[in-house]
Amino acid sequence: MKTKKIELIVSPPEAHYVGDGFRVHNFIPGAYHLDMQRMNPFILMDYNSKFYFPPSETPRGVGVHPHRGFETVTIAYHGKVAHHDSTGNSGVIGEGDVQWMTAASGILHKEYHEKSFSQAGGIFQMVQLWVNLPAVSKMSPPKYQGIVNSAINKYLLPENSGVIEVIAGNYKDVKGAASTFTPVHLLNAKLNKGGKAEFSFPDNYTTALLVIEGAVKINESEIVPTDHFVLFENEGEDFTVEASENAVVLVLSGKPIHEPISAQGPFVMNTRKELVEAFEDFNHGKFGFLED
Ligand code: MN
Repeated sequence: MKTKKIELIVSPPEAHYVGDGFRVHNFIPGAYHLDMQRMNPFILMDYNSKFYFPPSETPRGVGVHPHRGFETVTIAYHGKVAHHDSTGNSGVIGEGDVQWMTAASGILHKEYHEKSFSQAGGIFQMVQLWVNLPAVSKMSPPKYQGIVNSAINKYLLPENSGVIEVIAGNYKDVKGAASTFTPVHLLNAKLNKGGKAEFSFPDNYTTALLVIEGAVKINESEIVPTDHFVLFENEGEDFTVEASENAVVLVLSGKPIHEPISAQGPFVMNTRKELVEAFEDFNHGKFGFLED
């Protein structure tokens, strides 16, 4: 097997606020050439790096808004997010938990700091990833997978190197907790200092990682610090990640969906016409109802 080399290391772009509760670095789309087509099936990555939110009686967050044509995946590292959507699903995404929400044909939802976290204040750290859906699934019914940390299968690395949490896809023979529409691997590698993990994905998959905690050395050569994003070449299969200090790394790899993308705001479709329909359907209340 051939080594998968680094194509690009991206330092965190300047942060901006989504609503008043998410202070994010937007890596996908926009940073350098991490556009939707290149990063497909990963069409957005907003990263709230570690940030202290002071106590607030009114939970900070994002009010009611729609999505259509993809899935939103929220991975909580510090702090808690509460969520409600127009299909009646709601829940709290706690530390170590993942919410995999399939917007598909359309939902309305709102995302807020969970009440007790908001009242106490604290360090908040979170990733939101949007996973594209193929044309054939864009208008399928919405669904919701609330995945608590205990439900995520873990691969114990040898020699006390750490653990790989398999959110989706697989790591070696351990299968992911979430079901996906197209092949997607999403892994949290929690490595002890000096610990090393090997990864192998098909050469044509879009493969990247984000250093959440600590620093890592990739392919025994390049050091990547906290909050930095690495895009790999679409060539070669194997790479290694070694923790220079205790580290947490989010690893993503997915089969590209070779279809046109027409995206605006909260809608990601294949054509301009479908985008116009999405706005019309939203304006005509076809995404259901959710109280503010
Ligand atoms: Mn949303």
